[in-house]
Amino acid sequence: MFYLLILLLQMKLIKQITDLNKAINIEKRLGFVPTMGSLHKGHEALIKESQKKCKKTIVTIFVNPTQFNNKNDYKNYPQDLNKDLKILKKLKVDYVYLPTVDEVFKERLPKILLNKSQKILCARFRKGHFEGVLDILNRFAKLISPKSIFMGEKDFQQFFLVKNFIEKKYKTKVYVCKTIRDSKMIALSSRNNLLNKNGHNTLGLISNELVNLKKIIYKNRKQSKKIISIIKKDLVQKFKVKIEYLECRNTINLSTNIQKRSFKLFVAFYLNNVRLIDNF
Ligand code: AMP
Repeated sequence: MFYLLILLLQMKLIKQITDLNKAINIEKRLGFVPTMGSLHKGHEALIKESQKKCKKTIVTIFVNPTQFNNKNDYKNYPQDLNKDLKILKKLKVDYVYLPTVDEVFKERLPKILLNKSQKILCARFRKGHFEGVLDILNRFAKLISPKSIFMGEKDFQQFFLVKNFIEKKYKTKVYVCKTIRDSKMIALSSRNNLLNKNGHNTLGLISNELVNLKKIIYKNRKQSKKIISIIKKDLVQKFKVKIEYLECRNTINLSTNIQKRSFKLFVAFYLNNVRLIDNF
């Protein structure tokens, strides 16, 4: 009896679609946390939120090749499956799905395209990235039929596009969880593992500058473009970063109209050849 209980409480590791179907077809209130692994406290916060809101939780670890517009970026994406599984076990996650590329892309599905108004921020610079993200989440939503999906505010544009897409097509609700930061204000990210100690310190200084910049813009919304252009030059000079974008957009429809709406400061930049994004 005792061993049966232990067995029932154990986290189920699933690699094949047939096993996935068998394991979860009885689950009615399943929370889903999609990840690319190399887990940190940001992922853990999403899992805890899912466990709070849902009966059971499923986590996927899948580095999706179709969302990388750069082969080297895909090849160098940090991975540590053993460490990840230890974290998930400790959190008492119910199901971990580790799909294979071949199986997950076996079914031919229509290509998902972004419209013109969606081709902003990261979509402007990473061609095909969000099409790949939406395609994989469409596949997972179809396979898993979760009641809820939990995503991070750290990737706000991703959350925004996924919520619009998934909630129109499925009975699934997509929730956003706030960005988890370390004591230096750095947003936790698997990509931070690619930085050395110096890079990490610089990232802390940049994050603090951006927190202050948001506060300044908040009080001077009409001057936002002018302020940003000055600070942008300053950041490039001081920290030797290559900035892809530094923009304010409202959180309702991501347009640049920030006068009367709540807004965020969005940034993407290269630090020591590592591409990082954040929003404040
Ligand atoms: P990833 O493994 O990078 O694809 O991220 C998986 C999920 O974790 C996404 O919904 C991210 O937005 C979320 N996430 C990543 N970093 C953080 C963070 N620092 N705080 C909260 N959520 C995060």
